[in-house]
Amino acid sequence: MIHTERIKKLNQKPLKEGDYVLYWMQASPRAHCNHALEYGIKKANRLKKPLVVFFGITKQFPEANNRHYTFLLQGLQHVQNSLDKRGIKMAIQIVSPPKGAIELAENASVVVVDKGYLTIQREWVKKAIDWLKCSLIQVETNVVVPVETASAKEEYSAATFRRKINKKLDEFLVPLKMEKLITHSSDINMDSYSFDDLHSIISQLGLKSKVAPVSKYKGGTLNAIKLLGTFIKHKLDHFPDRNDPSTDYLSHMSPYLHFGQVSPLHIALEILKTKSPGKSTYLEELIVRRELAVNFVYHNPEYDNLKCLPDWAYKTLSKHQNDKREYTYSFKEFENAGTHDPYWNAAQLEMVHTGKMHGYMRMYWGKKILEWTHDPEEAYQIALKLNNKYELDGRDPNAYAGVAWCFGKHDRAWKEREIFGKVRYMNDRGLRRKFKIDSYVGAVNNLVS
Ligand SMILES: Cc1cc2nc3c(=O)[nH]c(=O)nc-3n(C[C@H](O)[C@H](O)[C@H](O)COP(=O)(O)OP(=O)(O)OC[C@H]3O[C@@H](n4cnc5c(N)ncnc54)[C@H](O)[C@@H]3O)c2cc1C
Repeated sequence: MIHTERIKKLNQKPLKEGDYVLYWMQASPRAHCNHALEYGIKKANRLKKPLVVFFGITKQFPEANNRHYTFLLQGLQHVQNSLDKRGIKMAIQIVSPPKGAIELAENASVVVVDKGYLTIQREWVKKAIDWLKCSLIQVETNVVVPVETASAKEEYSAATFRRKINKKLDEFLVPLKMEKLITHSSDINMDSYSFDDLHSIISQLGLKSKVAPVSKYKGGTLNAIKLLGTFIKHKLDHFPDRNDPSTDYLSHMSPYLHFGQVSPLHIALEILKTKSPGKSTYLEELIVRRELAVNFVYHNPEYDNLKCLPDWAYKTLSKHQNDKREYTYSFKEFENAGTHDPYWNAAQLEMVHTGKMHGYMRMYWGKKILEWTHDPEEAYQIALKLNNKYELDGRDPNAYAGVAWCFGKHDRAWKEREIFGKVRYMNDRGLRRKFKIDSYVGAVNNLVS
């Protein structure tokens, strides 16, 4: 079922007498559980036209590097194969996405696009609205509850958001039916990359950053679904104990969610089929916390800097910005894991080498950057830059919300102290008291050496 709340007509242009329906796939590159794709197929069948899917790879996605592009391309390879089996042509081109979509739309009756929440994704769609001569319809599929339906404003915290979103869950946690395309498009002739040689596509992108791809996580919907199966079978029961970084009770869905290669609705429905004691904790993270981050970037255009913070956090950090710091490190020293703290260094190395830092360590990692830089503004930018450079799931709404949380976003005021003011503080004693933290450090060092 595709709820009307997921569908939005973005312009007032008419349906054209075109050769095909075009699905401009951008935020949701997957052939599985994708409302925009199924909507496009339905539309094509109704108009008795074929459906063509287009994905534009831009060389200029902010902060994207070899690691990210490799994961994206591995995923696109799966999508192209899966669509081909359903008789659907997928054109993948190295081009500015709106430019490519506008060009292909010249021969389209109608364009369907999926929905991303970051400024750049919204600007792309805006460009298309300005230039397209046919109807443009957006279908939202990267959240369980559509962002505007969940809440019409920026929410203050998980507590205020939870009350609202939980009321909508029964309505939106419903499976999506797969449609069959009647008029196949596989034989339509269109420029497209073939994936015989991933490295040659990467080299054509001419990337400047040298961040290496990772071997631990491979992109693609099939890999996500396999990992999810293993998680449900072996780890979900232990999920409430996931915080200990020396254990691995995590689902590792975040890179796949970030790239739109897996549907959060699919994950949630699979989790709901179980009787696991970890079920509700997991759904709280996947739906309430993740969609709170979407609510944040959607409603707050300052999501990538200190101005996004609530008043109390901004004021208290400003008041303490000249407090004496026992340690201060430069961007490079942080990047090279060169601090005095073995736990922080291990977290940084885990991120650099595997592309994914343990969730609990991300909080400690961000808090310490605030503590060990000259001022909160510098700390904020260092944390975001490192996060987005090395995390496979970086540059996500969750990346911006996670970093902002370290500076007081979505949190409450605590007892006042130096540097942090009333922002929540974390220390290494807590790590030693609660977890087998030395065993985490040992495991990371083994991995790296
Ligand atoms: C400083 C900092 C930076 C972060 N950077 C990112 C980032 O770049 N990309 C990113 O996706 N997440 C980020 N997070 C949030 C969270 O740490 C990750 O989503 C989580 O560790 C991903 O691993 P997983 O999929 O194995 O999570 P699991 O623990 O298995 O959780 C399942 C899913 O729930 C959601 N989730 C889990 N924890 C959170 C959380 N705290 N907030 C919001 N959603 C959550 C994610 O979508 C995750 O994939 C950051 C958090 C902090 C404190």
